[in-house]
Amino acid sequence: MADKNDNLKTGHMAIVLGIGLGVVTLIVLSLILTIVINRHDRQAFLRSRKNPDERLKSLDKVSPTRTLEDWWAVTKGKMGLSEAVDSQFVCAVCLEQVNRSEEIRELQCLHVFHRECLEKWFLGDHYNCPLCHRAYYVPTTRPRHEFAWIV
Ligand SMILES: [Zn+2]
Ligand SMILES: [Zn+2]
Repeated sequence: MADKNDNLKTGHMAIVLGIGLGVVTLIVLSLILTIVINRHDRQAFLRSRKNPDERLKSLDKVSPTRTLEDWWAVTKGKMGLSEAVDSQFVCAVCLEQVNRSEEIRELQCLHVFHRECLEKWFLGDHYNCPLCHRAYYVPTTRPRHEFAWIV
């Protein structure tokens, strides 16, 4: 009788131990996986950091650089280029006025920003318009800031 109880106890112990080991293995495995994935992300991030020129070329495809004056002439026609141009445009990134001779980048949503301001924004892995959050670029690698994709 006592033997049977002991056997039962050992059996229970074995099950508890087995589950415990299983849980520990799972935790360790997921930890290793997380570290590997993070390292992979970090390497992709560092790689992309290394050649900003290469990345800016892809920005050029969706948002070419030109002066505000050029942009105004193309979108609004030659007419109406007045002092109004200088006072109407404020870059939403730096909150400073865009002057007609300054280089700008226009997004598909028709929002206009300083060239350098949008480049900084883009190189920071933001692929949505700073103003209306519409996506303007589809990255070839997964974005680091995934929340930026929630529109
Ligand atoms: Zn700006
Ligand atoms: Zn926009």
